Amino acid sequence: MPLIIITGLPCSGKSTRAKQLHDYLESRIAETTAASSSTPKYRLHLISDQTQSISRTVYDLSPEKLPAHVRSANASEKDARAALYGAVKRVLSPRDIVILDGLNYIKGWRYQLFCEAKNMRTPSAVLQIGCSVDKAKQVNEARLARRKRTEQQASSQGQQQPEPKPEAEEKDSESPDHTKPEENETESILSKDDTSEPYSESNFENLIFRYEEPNPMTRWDSPLFTLIWEDDPHQTTQTFSKLWDVLAGESKKLVRPNLSTVQRDKDPGGDYLYLLERETQNIVKAILEVQNEDGGGGDGQRILLPRNGGDEKEEDQLVVELPAQKVGLPQLQRHRRAFVALNRGGIGLEAVGKLAVGRLRESFVGYLNDVFDKDG
Ligand code: ADP
Ligand code: MG
Repeated sequence: MPLIIITGLPCSGKSTRAKQLHDYLESRIAETTAASSSTPKYRLHLISDQTQSISRTVYDLSPEKLPAHVRSANASEKDARAALYGAVKRVLSPRDIVILDGLNYIKGWRYQLFCEAKNMRTPSAVLQIGCSVDKAKQVNEARLARRKRTEQQASSQGQQQPEPKPEAEEKDSESPDHTKPEENETESILSKDDTSEPYSESNFENLIFRYEEPNPMTRWDSPLFTLIWEDDPHQTTQTFSKLWDVLAGESKKLVRPNLSTVQRDKDPGGDYLYLLERETQNIVKAILEVQNEDGGGGDGQRILLPRNGGDEKEEDQLVVELPAQKVGLPQLQRHRRAFVALNRGGIGLEAVGKLAVGRLRESFVGYLNDVFDKDG
């Protein structure tokens, strides 16, 4: 299995659910292993901003918080994404279950992750953590209050006070914690072992604003599972079990990499965005031309297109499989724009590599075949 992309508002309970899911999967893996052989069928990985030592501030766009040398407002965020992408890519395989705990709020980013999984011939799924903005805000405010309090404590007590032990390791939480006498009402929403950093207020508001809801109608956001704050352990386990079924169980689907998920590779030169526009336009034009020549098109017709613009043998050409209904210019342009938006980059993966012309054309044709297939 597989890649599980967790997404949700900041402070919505993502890491809590990610840990629960991790524990759940661990026991499912143990079950399947005991039944068959001694080597576990799957290895489990939990990747998050914390595991990659990515700070909350990378998401901060406020100009006064930016160090003077940074390239652009969200450069640090792009670097963070590239780091996460690398971490996922290193371990992802049909034998490795990766839980990616994070905001994952950009749809183009989720699309890239989906492609990565598909390319590894392993399924992916999205688990959305639903939570009201008010609740998320309460959590962030509690974390801000806690930080302020500990900072005050530290400055009033000087350095003699030893670091309090991480409470996570001590299970007897009955006795009140006397090292934090001033802990107030605001902080009561946090669990005892919560150690996550808060977001600054403006950063938090901005992330709420920028959040792109997953859309289960798209391939990259499906299958989509949802857990809300209020979901009890029973409901949670049910959802986890469905996730397991889809990704590793009986109803697991065979994943074949298709053309739209072909890896990006090094660009031999030239302006990537220009090529992206030009090549996709050319393909749209070619499809329209063939449809017009053939007096209507449609009927699941297959169109051959050159891969590199040269004169290749027929078997090397790209094949567009048109749906039964004729596709018009507006529809083709809509798909083209969606594809361009997803591949425009700007989400931090430019450094990972770029599509050369042939790959680009291949990728767009694969994308079209996918949407035509899905639209019927
Ligand atoms: P995120 O990873 O989205 O920032 P966390 O999982 O760290 O969110 O949760 C934020 C705080 O809210 C933590 O202190 C956590 O214990 C608490 N919390 C999260 N989900 C729930 C829930 N479903 N019920 C009660 N408390 C929760
Ligand atoms: Mg978290």
